[in-house]
Amino acid sequence: MTVRAKKHLGQHFLKDEDTAKNIANTLTEVSYDNILEIGPGMGMLTKYLLDKKAKITVMEIDRDSVAFLKEEFRNEYINLDTSANNFEIIEGDFLKQDLSTFFNNRQVAIIGNYPYNISSQIIFKAIEYREFVPELSGMFQKEVAKRIAEKEGSKVYGIISVLTQAFFDVEYLFTVPPTVFNPPPKVDSGVIRLIRKKDFSLSVDEKLFFRVVKTAFNQRRKMLRSSLKSFNLSDTLKEDTIFAMRPEQLSVNEFIKLTHKIATDVI
Ligand code: SAH
Repeated sequence: MTVRAKKHLGQHFLKDEDTAKNIANTLTEVSYDNILEIGPGMGMLTKYLLDKKAKITVMEIDRDSVAFLKEEFRNEYINLDTSANNFEIIEGDFLKQDLSTFFNNRQVAIIGNYPYNISSQIIFKAIEYREFVPELSGMFQKEVAKRIAEKEGSKVYGIISVLTQAFFDVEYLFTVPPTVFNPPPKVDSGVIRLIRKKDFSLSVDEKLFFRVVKTAFNQRRKMLRSSLKSFNLSDTLKEDTIFAMRPEQLSVNEFIKLTHKIATDVI
């Protein structure tokens, strides 16, 4: 039995054992009870997760893959009584889950060879539920992985880089060529790891911070003085040297400072 790859679900199954093992090993295995694998497909990554200490939950949207997994891992099910309920296969759409309810407000590390068509949405969901997500690692399209990990000054530094790095330390780990997949994707893939910062509270209003970052990058060639016009800044504030900069020049901390300046601006 095998699963026929469906394009609309972003299905590119890994066929190389070493790559699967290396990805599974990117989780640090500290400070959490649960591991959630998104999009297990035929379980290539799953089998290397099973010897970890945490409870493993795999969530897959594709019914055929779920049927395959239940057959493939039936021994883990048979052992359920003895292995203290350590493995669960869920048929579902990750993007529709409330992670806090699903895991009873417990910490959950997320891993996957992710469906590339929803990469950014997966990252934004992890940011939204960051209180419960101590780390996330896995494979994305290389360009997306780089974008999440890059620092200011890079051409691909943008909204997702700033918003992710405000709460997580991001590391680009390694590149994976198309040849280890079936069917091969058209582009290289990249594996990254996000580790939540010790102090992941923002010192400024979160909504305002998100709005400042998004508005600034909407016109990434322009100086902030002009791209942030809609914030009705005072003339005094507009003289501040930071407003002569372009968004890609600002570090995450500078974006936080900028948000603070905007929040305390007096017209
Ligand atoms: N991890 C497997 C498969 C990777 S392909 C491997 O490495 O071989 C990506 C997988 O994500 C596919 O199985 C696809 O069906 C699944 N998927 C796509 N959208 C999803 C969603 N919204 N929620 C959960 N799984 C999803």
